[in-house]
Amino acid sequence: MKIPAKEIKDTALRVGFDACGIAPATEMPLFASRLAQWLGDGCHGSMHYMEQYQSMRADPRQLVPGARSVVSLLLGYRPSRLMQGSVKIAMYAYGEDYHRRIKRMLYQLIAELQHSHPDFSAKPCVDTVPISDKLWAWQAGLGWIGKNTLLVNPLLGSLCNIAELVTDAEVDAYDSPMANRCGECRLCVDACPNHALVADSSNGTGESQSVAPQRSRLVAMRCTSYQTVENRAEQLPEGQQGRGYAFGCDICQLACPYNREAAVRMDISAEQMQSLQSLVAADEASFRRLTRTLALSRITFAQWRRNLRHAAE
Ligand code: SF4
Ligand code: SF4
Repeated sequence: MKIPAKEIKDTALRVGFDACGIAPATEMPLFASRLAQWLGDGCHGSMHYMEQYQSMRADPRQLVPGARSVVSLLLGYRPSRLMQGSVKIAMYAYGEDYHRRIKRMLYQLIAELQHSHPDFSAKPCVDTVPISDKLWAWQAGLGWIGKNTLLVNPLLGSLCNIAELVTDAEVDAYDSPMANRCGECRLCVDACPNHALVADSSNGTGESQSVAPQRSRLVAMRCTSYQTVENRAEQLPEGQQGRGYAFGCDICQLACPYNREAAVRMDISAEQMQSLQSLVAADEASFRRLTRTLALSRITFAQWRRNLRHAAE
């Protein structure tokens, strides 16, 4: 089956995504070897799930046999207002958990495409599927992998969530990877108080057609985002500089010029902000109730209290 790329992109925007690009589903062996090196160096900390399905992350045809295309989709999340006060939560977590919202949108996109193409089928992917989101977003021409190790889109910056449809349908025109626009900038690398972004000596030239031209890598164990969300220990490591962040961390993203110019894409009401602020003093029952639909529901109340203690240090 062949579908016009424009039809998929127009439908994706109508459903509410901010950007859509389409890449041919192929194997990315250099990406696989770089992932293996990152894992081999232990940069993923306790995220052992990253060790599974390594070859599948670099080849969507292993995920969906017969896959021909990866439809990559972005949803920006720069919020309309920022949390005030000494305790902070990463911006992506302000509104409804993006997994829930994006899943609905992906199913709507599939349903709308099936109206005109009844045989269309696709696997919706939003984080719970072993596929490298930023790799395919780069391949689909939606941005480049910045030195903050995230996809940077010219209009949304790195303040965007990424999702995919992997499908056996072909399109009439595929997108090409976008050139890296970080240039000599290293504001994000220098802004990180934990030196979690490290220049990657394996990022050479000549790789650009096979692997994202990434120029640094994240040492997850040093990163506040990893520590406050993934680490379940009673204490956070000594010396971890949280700078007030109790869930996630935006420091390197706030340093990026592309994020300062990014479009506001998430409307946060005064009531929503008040609810977020009230989490600082919430008991366990209130925490569970207030975070039921938020990404914060990923952590336990004990983790939240631990993070608050750390944020106050
Ligand atoms: S999220 Fe925070 S700790 Fe992690 S790399 Fe960025 S600035 Fe450093
Ligand atoms: S801060 Fe500079 S180096 Fe880092 S991602 Fe943004 S443009 Fe690239």
